[in-house]
Parts: sequence; C-alpha cells; structure tokens
Amino acid sequence: MFNPIDLLLGIFSLDVGIDLGTANTLVAVRNRGIIINEPSWVAIERHTKRVLAIGAEAKEMVGRTPANIVAIRPLRDGVISEFEVTQAMLDYFIKKAHARRFTPFPRPRVVVGIPSGVTEVEKRAVYDAAMAAGARETYLIEQPMAAAIGAGLPVMEARGSMVLDIGGGTTEVAVFCLGGIVVSRSIRVAGDEMDEDIIQYARQKYNLLVGERTAERLKIAIGSAYPLPEERTMLLRGRNVVTGLPEAVEVSSIEIRDALSGSVSIIVDLVRETLDHTPPELIADLMETGICLAGGGCQLKGLADRITDETHMQSWVAADSMTCVARGAGMVLEELGVMRQVLVSPDRRGSTSAPPP
Ligand code: ADP
Ligand code: MG
Repeated sequence: MFNPIDLLLGIFSLDVGIDLGTANTLVAVRNRGIIINEPSWVAIERHTKRVLAIGAEAKEMVGRTPANIVAIRPLRDGVISEFEVTQAMLDYFIKKAHARRFTPFPRPRVVVGIPSGVTEVEKRAVYDAAMAAGARETYLIEQPMAAAIGAGLPVMEARGSMVLDIGGGTTEVAVFCLGGIVVSRSIRVAGDEMDEDIIQYARQKYNLLVGERTAERLKIAIGSAYPLPEERTMLLRGRNVVTGLPEAVEVSSIEIRDALSGSVSIIVDLVRETLDHTPPELIADLMETGICLAGGGCQLKGLADRITDETHMQSWVAADSMTCVARGAGMVLEELGVMRQVLVSPDRRGSTSAPPP
C-alpha cells in the first residue's frame, strides 16, 4: 500500500552501503557515491581497551605507537576477532556518514557487506552494532554478492556469473545464479600474504628487513602475476639483519613475481577448484560472461591475464574494483522488493530488519 510517510522517509533518509573490509572500510550513499574510504584500523589503549583513534588516523599510528597503545585490524582474517572494536568502528563510520546531514533527517537504512565466512554470532554483532549506531533498518549481505552487484553482474538472472574478490586478508570466489550463491570458496591468502612474501624474500635473498608498508608499496609498484611488457626495477629500503645498518637494494619485477608466485598460484588454484564444483550448465554461461575480478588485490599487474590463461575463461578487472562491495550493498536498497533474497539474516529467526516497535 502507498504510504506517504514511507515515501517521505525514502526521499529524505540516507541509504547507506558499507563494505566492512579486512583492509579498508568504505561507505557509499545513494546519489552521492563513496563518501568514506578509510583503513579498517582501530587504535586502542592496551590496558583499558579504550578506543583512541579509528580509520586513517589509527593507521598512521601503526608501527609508531608507544607500548601502551596498540593499533589493530579487527577484521584482519575475514573473521571478527574483536567484537567491541568492530562495533566501535562501525559506529564511527555510520555516525560519520549521518553527521554530514542535519539531525532532523530520518535515520539511515544500512546494508553491511560482511565476509562470507562469519558465524551467526558475528552476524548478530554486526547487526546490533549498526542498529546501535543509529540505523533505522539494517541488512547484511555477503561481500562477494555485493561485489557482483556493484560490478553490474546479472546476479538475479537465470544465467551464471562469477566473482573473484581479492582483499587484504581474504580471497573469495563465488558463482551466482537467480539471486543466490551456487558455489563459493574463501581463503586467507590475499594482499597481506603477498606483502609477507616480499618481506620473506628480501630477508632470505638480501638479509634485508623491510616493513609491511614498504613491502606493500613495492607490490603495488612492480608486483605482477604475469610477464610484464616491460620489466622494471625499484629500490627496496630496509635494515640489513647482519650489519644492523640501513641499506637499499635494487630488485626487479621478475624477482618480485617469483616471490609472489606461491600466493598467486594458490589463488589461481582456488578459482579452478571452484570451477570444478560448478554445474556444467553454469560453466557454459561463464564461458560467455567470464570471471569478474574485484577488490584491491585483483589490481596486481597481469593477474587477469594469468587467470584467463589458466582457466580458459575471459577474466577482467571490474571498473572501480575497490568500491564494488560498498556500491553493490547500497544498490540493494534501491530495489529491496526484488533483491531481498540476496541478503543474509543476522540470526536464525530470519528477521533482517528491526522488529516493529
Ligand atoms: P578488503 O576488502 O579486505 O578491505 P581491499 O579490497 O580494500 O581489501 O584491498 C586491499 C588490498 O589490495 C591490500 O592488500 C592492498 O595492498 C591491495 N592492493 C591495492 N592496490 C593494489 C595494486 N595496485 N596492486 C596490488 N595490490 C593492491
Ligand atoms: Mg573486500
């Protein structure tokens, strides 16, 4: 039934999509795009557990914190390791999104993209945190589903489509059809692990101790999964573990590809294994639609070519691949009537929204 109050709420309220990523949290708002994009870091006081900083400010503290402050990533491995910290983070991002409007505006409707492996208890915690942060209605969606919607894949149709989402802590692969996930896999080998590969390599080959952020920068600059049209070199700075002195060595993209090859192979094997478990009719569809790559980690140079090569399926990187999950989550609210089935419920009672007052 047409209800004028609902209509007004719909026009004036914020529809918010949140990507609760292991590395970055993004908030998308209807008609305004991505309004928040910050690292999923929280700095807390060690003894009191008091939250000191969240997001970009907390990440700045990493590696520089005095002993009584710890900077943590509450979702590092795709599981919610610290409830209260995750709640504080969600609270901060939702309030920050809402605070950009005048207070008389109705409270926002929120869809939160959660890693697909989280438990019922964790889902409930995310749901409660969003409601406590002032959401009028809260829904949960699995991140690969949100990524597929954000990338514009036809997930509601009777035709198969596939996403490979490589984040910081987790890599997820899923095949969709008729608004559901038909096959999916998730592993804890992703961007962070590649950074770790580079740290190990520098240490073993050059006795060089490098930091996580230095390794990440090198990966983004010259890391690859497939031979580059032009191989490159870059200076890697760190501390020599033998002499104890600062040192810089020149490393080539060929060396770094070699260092990353173990993690890359694991990801490629995951895609192949998922295809192995996909029904043949859907494989036939995928041969037409291909494999869509999303998340920050899929921007590794040559990854799409490598996957195309090894799976014989056309793969491509989604437009704006790092924001697919947040945008996709927000898009569900626009067509909640038809898309409700793509959501997951926060508990076994099956309610995805606030109970009526
Ligand atoms: P999450 O969804 O887990 O929060 P993101 O999708 O934000 O993760 O991706 C973060 C990961 O992507 C990090 O490991 C980062 O190093 C990696 N990344 C970002 N840009 C690139 C790039 N150009 N090449 C390779 N890796 C990248
Ligand atoms: Mg992600």
